[in-house]
Amino acid sequence: MITIFSAKKVRTMNPSNPEATHIAVRDGSILGVGSLDEVSGWGEYQLDDTFVDKVIVPGFVEAHAHVMAGGMMMLPYLGYFDRPRADGTTAMGIKSYDQLIEALKAEDARLEDPNEQIVAVGFDPIYFSDQPRLTCHHLDQVSSTRPIYLHHASGHLATVNTPMLKVNNITRDLRVEGLGRDAEGELDGELREPPAMTLCKSGYRVFQFTNSTEQALRDFAALACNAGITTCTDLAGSAILAPKTYDMTTRVTSEAAFPMRLVQYNIPAMPGDAADFSEVAERVVELRRNNSDKFRSPGIKFVLDGSIQGFSALIKEPGYFSGEDHGQLLAVPEQLKDWLLPFHKAGLNIHMHCNGNKTQDLALETIEAILCEAPRPDHRHTITHAQLTTQAQLRKMAKLGLCANFFANHIWFWGDQHYDITVGPERANQIEPCASAIREGISFSIHSDAGVTPLGSLHTMWCAVNRTTPSGRVLGEVEKISAAEALKAVTIGAAYQLHLDDEIGSLEAGKKADFAILDDDPLTVDPMAIRDIGVWGTVLGGRLFKAANR
Ligand SMILES: [Zn+2]
Repeated sequence: MITIFSAKKVRTMNPSNPEATHIAVRDGSILGVGSLDEVSGWGEYQLDDTFVDKVIVPGFVEAHAHVMAGGMMMLPYLGYFDRPRADGTTAMGIKSYDQLIEALKAEDARLEDPNEQIVAVGFDPIYFSDQPRLTCHHLDQVSSTRPIYLHHASGHLATVNTPMLKVNNITRDLRVEGLGRDAEGELDGELREPPAMTLCKSGYRVFQFTNSTEQALRDFAALACNAGITTCTDLAGSAILAPKTYDMTTRVTSEAAFPMRLVQYNIPAMPGDAADFSEVAERVVELRRNNSDKFRSPGIKFVLDGSIQGFSALIKEPGYFSGEDHGQLLAVPEQLKDWLLPFHKAGLNIHMHCNGNKTQDLALETIEAILCEAPRPDHRHTITHAQLTTQAQLRKMAKLGLCANFFANHIWFWGDQHYDITVGPERANQIEPCASAIREGISFSIHSDAGVTPLGSLHTMWCAVNRTTPSGRVLGEVEKISAAEALKAVTIGAAYQLHLDDEIGSLEAGKKADFAILDDDPLTVDPMAIRDIGVWGTVLGGRLFKAANR
């Protein structure tokens, strides 16, 4: 049966047929995009006018997110900004240390078992200029007996209380990089990056476990649907490190009612662990062979450093503007080429997390060496985050055929802190250099890194278009891009770097019938209103999925 969807306007993101009013769909795929007259010749059809007053754009493609976005909202949320939940309600932000302690005390009172630990998420001390570090002394005010583990917003730091240090036998004589200490060398409960965070086994395990549950995956997909996202990456996939989670994911994504395509990039090992990855590469090739319509594994992801707001990203001279430099490389430079080469040779796509531009230099040099040894014309390897990319790096990326995936949401969520604290005005104004990437001819996407920030392609577009911070500052007027360029970045641009642009990312004959259904046109509204456009929901493979609050 053929269904023809009619809309107020269709933005196809196909430059050769940019606008239309009707889309004919059969068996989950697009037959034709045009006027009713143009698409009705395919045979007997049913006209669906559900979206007659809506704007249809290609289903958004989020090229850097994590199932964690669903899992973390199952735990107490202590982030600064309000955060939507999968059911359409909102978790309110924490605006002071007093509120933080109060919220944790409420959780402490709620738990009946005195030994049960508290694992909470989302806090970031950088928003509190009077107390920019969260330590065990703060959390010890909540309880001197109940262990507490608080996973920071960046995902690269945690703070634990004294009981949590004790139950995990973390003592001052341990010599592991990333253990926070006071002036006397005593542990202060801050754990930076996975090698230190995983020392706190009991807390970290609960966090990891929650993120690997079926509920986390279902909530993740619901959050995506609420935001108009039809294809979403899980950029820290489980197939290699947690095969059981992978089996669950395979089962859940195969359900017809599962509202999202999941594109999983596996992490081959815990960050910092060296290994021979030839076998892992074979395994990913095998996974790719078993791909289904709604579950893909095009490649592999390497986390190469920390986060800027956690001061653990490795950045070039002259380093951090203020604060202590904890820049940490999560790879061995001499080994990186050997780590990446098996995946590259196997024809897989490689995404490299580089928050710091010094890390990015290493990634670029390594990719250059790999391409000299094993040339591949259409690899689309991607620098993900790429926040502090310099002009020299952009020129080199263009030559090497690399894609960029900029963390545009940072402009809003940490832009003021980058200007005032982490990298200073000049480099903050150049952060997420989307306009420069266009000038250099680099294909790019923009992302949320959900759950680090909330899933929401319209919000991510809004960030790249307006470059506005909560204080009202505009970060780098010249790096603003147009709404059309931003829409490209969250649709066909993202699909391209996932090697899926022949199937999704634009509305064309033969491609999947994946739409985002919007109340208004993101290309004609006031640019400052892009993030406020209502999302009715999505169409995925021709099937309608309504957002939770509609
Ligand atoms: Zn990430």
